[in-house]
Amino acid sequence: MALKDDLLEGLEEQYQEYMGIPRHLIPWFPIIDNDKCTGCKECLKFCHSNVFEYVEEDRKVVVKNPWHCQVYCESCTYACPVNAISFPDRTEVKTILRELKQKYSAF
Ligand code: SF4
Ligand code: SF4
Repeated sequence: MALKDDLLEGLEEQYQEYMGIPRHLIPWFPIIDNDKCTGCKECLKFCHSNVFEYVEEDRKVVVKNPWHCQVYCESCTYACPVNAISFPDRTEVKTILRELKQKYSAF
């Protein structure tokens, strides 16, 4: 199976594209610092996009569905009491997105 198919498998339709661009090409999703995460689940309770999952074995939360994250949303950073959540550099992502928009608007 092609990499793209692997990435999209199981991904709900609403999360597959952003402005006509395949969502998995846009590097915007939360990153959890595993050392800081206390497993409190505040991020999981806060986000309605089913991005996070609690791993009982490790007592930590992980990013299970990165492509479900709303592009440019950073709200869960404020829900985390220990500042364990960060995001990619917004300026870099904007540059990537601009290029992708040009590429995909050509089709
Ligand atoms: S940034 Fe927004 S959409 Fe993305 S994981 Fe956090 S709360 Fe959910
Ligand atoms: S809110 Fe922060 S500390 Fe709590 S589970 Fe999420 S990432 Fe871990």
